[in-house]
Amino acid sequence: MDRLERLLGPHPRLRAARPGLPEPGGRSVVYWMQRAQRGVDNGALNLAVAVGNAMGLPVLVAFGLTADYPGAQRRHYRFLVDGLVDVEDDLRRRGIPLVVRLGSPDAVVPALAREAGAAIVIGDENPVRVGQQWRDRVARELRVPFYLVDADVVVPSSHFPTEEYAARTIRPRIHRLLGEYLRPIPDHPARVKWDEPPAGEAIDPDRLMEALRVGGVAEVSGYRGGSREAKRRLRQFIEHRLPRYAEERNEPTPYSTSELSAHLHFGQISPIAIALAVSRSEAPREDIDAYLEELIVRRELSVNFVARNRDHDRLAGCPDWARRTLAAHAGDPRPAIYSARQLEAAETHDPLWNAAQLEMVLTGRMHNYLRMYWAKKILEWTPDAETAFSIALDLNDRYEMDGRDPNGYAGVAWAIGGKHDRPWPERPIFGTVRFMSYESTRRKFDSAAYIARVEAIRRGGIAHDPDSAGR
Ligand SMILES: Cc1cc2nc3c(=O)[nH]c(=O)nc-3n(C[C@H](O)[C@H](O)[C@H](O)COP(=O)(O)OP(=O)(O)OC[C@H]3O[C@@H](n4cnc5c(N)ncnc54)[C@H](O)[C@@H]3O)c2cc1C
Repeated sequence: MDRLERLLGPHPRLRAARPGLPEPGGRSVVYWMQRAQRGVDNGALNLAVAVGNAMGLPVLVAFGLTADYPGAQRRHYRFLVDGLVDVEDDLRRRGIPLVVRLGSPDAVVPALAREAGAAIVIGDENPVRVGQQWRDRVARELRVPFYLVDADVVVPSSHFPTEEYAARTIRPRIHRLLGEYLRPIPDHPARVKWDEPPAGEAIDPDRLMEALRVGGVAEVSGYRGGSREAKRRLRQFIEHRLPRYAEERNEPTPYSTSELSAHLHFGQISPIAIALAVSRSEAPREDIDAYLEELIVRRELSVNFVARNRDHDRLAGCPDWARRTLAAHAGDPRPAIYSARQLEAAETHDPLWNAAQLEMVLTGRMHNYLRMYWAKKILEWTPDAETAFSIALDLNDRYEMDGRDPNGYAGVAWAIGGKHDRPWPERPIFGTVRFMSYESTRRKFDSAAYIARVEAIRRGGIAHDPDSAGR
């Protein structure tokens, strides 16, 4: 048992949701794949393989596919099920079956663990509310040990047990720990093979989409999910865009960023793998540093916000100073008031805002700089900050391919509720929350070209994937 005790012993990346050593009579090790949807570079899966190899047991990957994930739309499911093809392929190379069953993971996983005679279940961490609820229920249902690995951050979240105030408070701590955690993740094959693993759905994306019967916001053709696509994007980014990232990242026409956020959201690529590839590239140091600041410091600050602030999805989760100043300006006249329906339909007086909204609806993405402007204008054009918060989050989560992510909660809270920001000079409606004007935003980049580009996408004149549109 020595090796097992070492593998399951205390570690900042590991949480014992149901502590104990694996059942000696077990017939398998089950990895519950939820957030880390990849067959390689996956520390949670690798722990399951190491435990299986140490015990001489085969490993099974269990995946519960539910049509009821709050806010998820047809476009998100297509992205997810396309990604399962790569997961199955990568797992096959390691001698591990992927068993997908339709249903909520908190029902599917305990049932499959029983059926497979699991000695232990190992899962990945997910700080969002639904993710935590599922994990709590699985821990209650299982009769065998259950461990969770924090596989989708570079520095484990357990190093930050309370809510961080801003990037400047978490940054030095992350930087101090990077040497310890920014290391390659060695993938090993499973040594023991299954004779006959439990049955699951065929990994056929079209058939899975039919079986799920999800409706909602339409799919986005050409915006493909999966680990292969994520790695292709990463290579393209490092070669063509990273060497200008520090200077051009605020340029939306065309994008100069990595466009990996949706793949990161679905766990189809590991942030550690991205960070290592970027760090080893020949790009100038300032570009590498600027990128790692977003990928690690900003992204993990968002994870900290969601993990440690139970009101992360409402104005109540924003700092007191911001809520007070917004309340003091609640009665200020607004230049315009739009309903949620008008905003969704991009029917405002502002051509730049409409273009950003339309880009999101049509392509499932919006550039970071425009996201800030977009959310701040919603605050300006709705009756109060609570309403603005909920409209912005709802639109973000339904239309953005990377929606429903910690970054989305932090982004909306930053724009509307001053989260992770500081007070600015006072002005109407916003009080001391940072303001962004049409004029200054318009001047930051060629906004006429951006608006024309979105219009061309609307008319079907150009592909919306910047990779296929040049560069
Ligand atoms: C109002 C608003 C809503 C947002 N909603 C989301 C969302 O739903 N999902 C989402 O992933 N991001 C969201 N963001 C953050 C940011 O806009 C996106 O992560 C970024 O635009 C994704 O593009 P990229 O992958 O090309 O980024 P890159 O510039 O290539 O950055 C690399 C990675 O770093 C992370 N990152 C970049 N910018 C930020 C940031 N400001 N905060 C935290 N992490 C960041 C992302 O994971 C990103 O993929 C939002 C920001 C705002 C202001």
